[in-house]
Amino acid sequence: MKIGIVGAGLVGATAAYALVMVGVGRQVVLVDLDQKRAQAEANDLRHAVPFAHALEVRAGGYGDLAGSRIVIIAAGVGQRPGETRLQLLERNAAVFEKVVPSVLEHAPDAVLVIATNPVDIMTQVTATIAAKHGVPSTRVVGSGTTLDTARFRTLLSQHTGVDATHIHGYVVGEHGDSEVLLWSSTSVGNVPLADFCAGRGIALDEAVRNDIDHRVRNAAYAIIEGKRATYYGIGSALARICANILGDRKAVMTVCTPQADVVGVPHVTVALPRILGGSGVLSTMPLALSADEEEALRRSAQVIKAATDDLGLGGPS
Ligand code: ADP
Repeated sequence: MKIGIVGAGLVGATAAYALVMVGVGRQVVLVDLDQKRAQAEANDLRHAVPFAHALEVRAGGYGDLAGSRIVIIAAGVGQRPGETRLQLLERNAAVFEKVVPSVLEHAPDAVLVIATNPVDIMTQVTATIAAKHGVPSTRVVGSGTTLDTARFRTLLSQHTGVDATHIHGYVVGEHGDSEVLLWSSTSVGNVPLADFCAGRGIALDEAVRNDIDHRVRNAAYAIIEGKRATYYGIGSALARICANILGDRKAVMTVCTPQADVVGVPHVTVALPRILGGSGVLSTMPLALSADEEEALRRSAQVIKAATDDLGLGGPS
């Protein structure tokens, strides 16, 4: 099974590396405006194959995406000095106006997995373009808060002493400043987190929650300060999204995709726990929110809604 990656920068190339390490798919094709870079990354990645899984990795053009089951889009441009967020968004939207139709021309049946930031907005941009090619929005999957959810579970694992895979808790909303940690529905095994902590004498007061909240919400800023970019976490999250789609696993992940209504905010793209399968997003999980969480999610959805409205993307999902 073929997976295409458009944008062989740090995020795209690391996603390819994670696919090779985990053994997801059979072929990976890297496409980039900078063909020399895509070729060099493919060459480098091929040398990892004998130490990992037997994937074929190569660079190519859009025509080489033919037959891809999934195309990850991680292409984008960086912020110029003095450029506003909206100007950057407009330039990235212009990149997608070229990239998305080129992908769909050659891989019309692929699930599109979006990684370019701001990911909620770029996912909505993609869905709007893809709809003109007859692609349902459920086939457009943004990485959303998959990474934020992993960071939340990692910190709770450290705090409770229980393996992160047995901590079930989600971060929803914008992948960014207004994201919402769903404390009220988080469980350890099948025991509510608050009960687990109370039973074990583990603190879970406001100070602990605020500290974990701060570290989840600001994780990317802290990493970027130290090494200018983040890519291992997101590359791994992208590989897992691909594995769940290729394997039609019906796994729950906090991805983003356009939705007609999110707690009263119409036609908006934010992350929620969703069931992922072979055709993309199969459905959205019912939400278990406290009143505070619901209000925070509404505010987060409004942040994204305002940005997509500014871009003129306010239409139906
Ligand atoms: P990130 O850290 O998000 O991966 P990078 O700048 O490392 O950011 O990578 C972005 C990649 O997207 C670059 O390799 C760049 O060449 C690529 N890119 C930019 N515009 C296009 C485009 N129109 N088509 C394909 N690739 C593009």
